[in-house]
Amino acid sequence: MNSSSEADDRHAPIFDPTAFRLAPPEAELIAKARRFGARVVAPRAAIHDRNATFPIENFRDMHAAGLLALCVPREDGGAGASFRTYCLAAAELGRFCGATALSWNMHVCSTLWTGALANDLAMTPQERAEHERRRASHYRRIVADGAIYSQPFSEGGAAAAGGVAFGTEARPVAGGYIVNGKKIFASLSGSADYYGVLCTERVGDGPASRRDTLYLAIPAKADGVKVTGEWDPLGMRATVSRTLIMADVFVPDDEMLMPRGVYFRAATSWPHMFLTLSPTYVGLAQAAYDFTIAYLRGEIRGVAPVKRRMYPTKQIAVAEMRVMLEQTKALWFQSVSEACANPTKEQVMRAYAAQFTVMENANAIAAKAIRTCGGQAMLKDLPLERIYRDSRCGSLMLPWTAELCLDRLGRECLYEPGEKDD
Ligand SMILES: Cc1cc2nc3c(=O)[nH]c(=O)nc-3n(C[C@H](O)[C@H](O)[C@H](O)COP(=O)(O)OP(=O)(O)OC[C@H]3O[C@@H](n4cnc5c(N)ncnc54)[C@H](O)[C@@H]3O)c2cc1C
Repeated sequence: MNSSSEADDRHAPIFDPTAFRLAPPEAELIAKARRFGARVVAPRAAIHDRNATFPIENFRDMHAAGLLALCVPREDGGAGASFRTYCLAAAELGRFCGATALSWNMHVCSTLWTGALANDLAMTPQERAEHERRRASHYRRIVADGAIYSQPFSEGGAAAAGGVAFGTEARPVAGGYIVNGKKIFASLSGSADYYGVLCTERVGDGPASRRDTLYLAIPAKADGVKVTGEWDPLGMRATVSRTLIMADVFVPDDEMLMPRGVYFRAATSWPHMFLTLSPTYVGLAQAAYDFTIAYLRGEIRGVAPVKRRMYPTKQIAVAEMRVMLEQTKALWFQSVSEACANPTKEQVMRAYAAQFTVMENANAIAAKAIRTCGGQAMLKDLPLERIYRDSRCGSLMLPWTAELCLDRLGRECLYEPGEKDD
C-alpha cells in the first residue's frame, strides 16, 4: 500500500475481514471501494447533492480504478466479483456518498445480473451461447470505453412491484425491436450511455405477460430516446432520476442483456437480485454512526473540538445506535452471504427481513444521530443531514419497499405453498 492509500484508509472496514471470514481477494476489492470512496467520492458529495447534479466524474474515475467492471467476469476483463463481494463493496462506497453508491448499483447490476447470476440460471445451450456472445460486447464497452449502464424499470404502475407486465412495449421487427414507453425515476438519466430497460415483448394484441419481459440495453443516443421532467427531491439528489421517454426506438437484437424469457427466470429463481439496492443504505447507517462517534468525541474536522461524550444520555444513545447497527449488519451479512439460485423459503424470508431492516434502520440511526449530536450537527456544511435525507429513500425502492417486504413476509409466515382460506 502506498502512503496516499494509507491516508485514505483511516476508516475501519464495515465488515472486518477476519471477524467476517473474508478471503483476502474479496477483502481487497472491498477495501478498494472504501479507499476510492474516501479519496475520490466524499469530497464531491456535498456539491452534487446541493445542485442535484450527477457526479459523472466519479464514474470516469471508477473506470480508471476498475470499479465500473467490478462484476464483469474475469475472462471478459473485469474483477469477477461475486454477489456478496459487490454488496460489501457498495456498502463501503455508500458511507461516502449515498447517491453515487445507488447510481453505481444501477450500473453494476447490469453486469452482475448478466454475469454471475445468469451463470446460475437454467438456459438451453443455444440461449447460453447467444447470451455469452452478447454480454461480451456489453462488457467490452464497459471495460474498454468506460460505458455507463443504468436500470430504469419503474413506470409508476404495478409493474415495478412485480404485479403485472411492464407497460413499456417491444414489438419485433427485422433485426430487432421497436420500443415505446416511459420510465420514471430513471437514475443516471442524461448521463448513462445505455439504459437497461425492462419491457414486454408484444407480438399480437393478446394479454401482456410478465413471462415475455425483455431486458434491453437502449443506447442513450438512439433516435426517440428523451429525458424529461424536473428533479428536485428530498434525498438521493445526485442520482438525477428524471423521466425517460422512448418513442418508436429501434433496438437491435444484439442489445438484449438477457435472452428472451431469461429475465423472468432470474426474477423468480434468483430473488436476492432485488436485495442489491440495500448495500448503499448499510453504508449510510455506518456513516451516521461514525459521524456521531466522531462528533461526540470532538473530532469532526472543521468543527470546534468540543467533547460531548461525557453525558450519560449520549452514551445511552450511541449504545442504542450501535445495537441497531450490529443487528442490521449481522442479518444483512447472513442474507447476502447465502444468496443463490433457488433459495429456500427461509432464505427468501430472511432476505425480506434483511431488506426491511436495512432500509428502516438506516433512517432510524440517522434520525437518532441528529437528535444525539444536536443542532450544530445538522447544518448543511456537515454530511449528517444529507445522510439523513438520503437514508429516508431506501424504504421507497421497488420492488422491495419496506411495506412490500412486510406484506410478503407476513403472508409467507402464515401460509405454506398452496394453502388458502375458504
Ligand atoms: C432516489 C430514487 C432513485 C430511484 N432510481 C430508480 C432507478 O434507477 N430505476 C428504477 O426503476 N426505479 C428507481 N426508483 C424508483 C423506485 O424503485 C420506485 O419505483 C418509486 O419510488 C416508486 O414510487 P411510486 O410512488 O410510483 O410507488 P407506487 O407504486 O405508487 O407505490 C407507493 C407505495 O405503495 C406500496 N405498494 C406498491 N405496490 C403495492 C402492492 N402491490 N401491494 C402493497 N403495497 C404496494 C409500496 O410500499 C410503495 O412504496 C428510484 C426511487 C428513488 C426514490
